[in-house]
Amino acid sequence: MDRQAQYDFVVVGAGSSGCVLANRLTENGKFTVLLLEAGPSDKTNPFIHMPAGMVGLMHSRKYNWRLWTTPQTHLNNRVLFQPRGKTLGGSSSINACVYIRGHASDYDHWADLGCEGWSYKELLPYFKKSENFHPAPFSAGVNQKDLEEYHGSGGPLNVASPDHRNPLSQAFIEAGVQAGYERNLDFNGAKQGGVGPYSAYHKDGQRWSNSRAYLWSAMSRPNLTILTNARAARICLENGRASGVEYFYEGQLCKALARKEVILSGGAFNSPHLLMLSGIGPWQDVLHHNIPPTHELPGVGRNLQDHLDVFLVMRTRNRLPISLHPLSWLRWVFQLAKYLMFKRGELSSNLAESGGFVKSSVEEPIEDLQLHFVALPAIRHGLNLWPLFKSYAYSIMIYDLRPHSKGTVRLASSNPLDLPVVDPNYGEHQRDIDRLVKGIRIARNIATQPALGRMNREEISPGEHLQTDEELEQWVRETAETAYHPVGTCKMGTDEMAVVDHRLRVHGLASLRVVDCSIMPTLIGGNTNAAATMIGEKAAAMILEDHNQENG
Ligand SMILES: Cc1cc2nc3c(=O)[nH]c(=O)nc-3n(C[C@H](O)[C@H](O)[C@H](O)COP(=O)(O)OP(=O)(O)OC[C@H]3O[C@@H](n4cnc5c(N)ncnc54)[C@H](O)[C@@H]3O)c2cc1C
Repeated sequence: MDRQAQYDFVVVGAGSSGCVLANRLTENGKFTVLLLEAGPSDKTNPFIHMPAGMVGLMHSRKYNWRLWTTPQTHLNNRVLFQPRGKTLGGSSSINACVYIRGHASDYDHWADLGCEGWSYKELLPYFKKSENFHPAPFSAGVNQKDLEEYHGSGGPLNVASPDHRNPLSQAFIEAGVQAGYERNLDFNGAKQGGVGPYSAYHKDGQRWSNSRAYLWSAMSRPNLTILTNARAARICLENGRASGVEYFYEGQLCKALARKEVILSGGAFNSPHLLMLSGIGPWQDVLHHNIPPTHELPGVGRNLQDHLDVFLVMRTRNRLPISLHPLSWLRWVFQLAKYLMFKRGELSSNLAESGGFVKSSVEEPIEDLQLHFVALPAIRHGLNLWPLFKSYAYSIMIYDLRPHSKGTVRLASSNPLDLPVVDPNYGEHQRDIDRLVKGIRIARNIATQPALGRMNREEISPGEHLQTDEELEQWVRETAETAYHPVGTCKMGTDEMAVVDHRLRVHGLASLRVVDCSIMPTLIGGNTNAAATMIGEKAAAMILEDHNQENG
């Protein structure tokens, strides 16, 4: 291993966006790329490839950064868990595989904020380019024109209907329709609202992470070097230009030089962290930790936005839910054998098999709440497995799609091996809490419709004894958790708090870009992996455009 090697591009982080870059930038064979990933390879851990294995990955210290927030003032001072993938594929290797793009107006809003080229119409080709969409049997009702207009085929990311669907997931959809919501067979098509089945990043019963989609096929390219267990420590700057990256590898501090660009794809917590460790950020934070200041950018680590989730958990009369109750052990022996032999059955499920987008009140112009249905008691991210042993229950998870509360990512110290300090400041705005209170009433209404209601035994959470707004508000503050979608900490834009411009170049510095969820100026209305993939696709196209021109 050459400890001072040169490449055209050095990409930090092999996550959802980083994998796309590594593939697309090496595709034409003109450029060399070094991809640095702090975690290990994703090839050997079976929990990564088995969709239901995400529960096991929550516990992993090897494949998960396992961050914790600061005590959250507005959530009764609780410290909340923040999982993030730490392996090839990043968070796409530990996530729930739900394929949702967000609402078209979310991206149009970015364009209105001055992010030229980021309206939904302009981004749709990148969503489609990434996608290999398999219309599922259930989408027989989706018209062909919509499929062609909104979906791609032949792209690296396999988007399919999970082979297995728990009967309760279908019952949730029927109950939603009984409650008056429209049946929606394609949340990524012409409209987002309604209840329906989710598509997932799946292929043949296995997770189709961004590593599987973009990296595995590119690994043998001679112009792509991938280093795992290589943790970036600092960006090297020379006369206002990023010239390389220092990183820890096999117990040594190494340096990689970038002839053309350094690209940060470390995610919404780690990209701003690396900038600040390099002296790029709000002056007071950098100086406070005795880091030599190199470039003042007040927006680095600010504008953190995330979806905040609450859960209605209902004990059932039947044994349909996923459970580890002793009575279900035989079922799991059978399911394990089925998965190992055929990659089918309950272990091939991404657990969040259906969901919906609804309005918290009729005055809302577009849907402002997302519901996920999971056929198990989803309590504390699966960190506490005890409820699974005790009961048969399902959960409806609810989050406000566009919360107003904003938080920060800051330095804990100048040591690159210390994790950043994450303060999402959840619930700062009373409206964010109020929406969750409305959301829990909506979930209760759906859960008591005949299709689900006939199976209910008892509401475990919030519990039927909690009924007034005040009681439910207190319950929200006591139980809400992250829905795993932090964004915005290196936001794109033109105002003084913007960190990158519309081509994702860091303001005021040359040869340095940020390409991951941290660049989102505002949180989108939906899960964030499809957007992270699209960001990687669009960034790669812009980078190639810039450097192909340069090369004549
Ligand atoms: C548990 C969970 C469930 C989720 N479920 C869904 C879902 O069902 N659907 C959906 O759309 N979204 C989901 N998400 C969100 C989605 O996965 C993320 O938004 C997306 O993966 C973020 O992509 P990214 O490229 O910004 O960052 P990441 O994918 O997190 O990638 C960052 C990468 O950079 C690496 N890295 C960080 N710092 C360094 C460093 N200093 N040196 C080297 N490498 C570094 C990390 O190890 C990681 O591999 C979920 C997320 C989680 C955690």
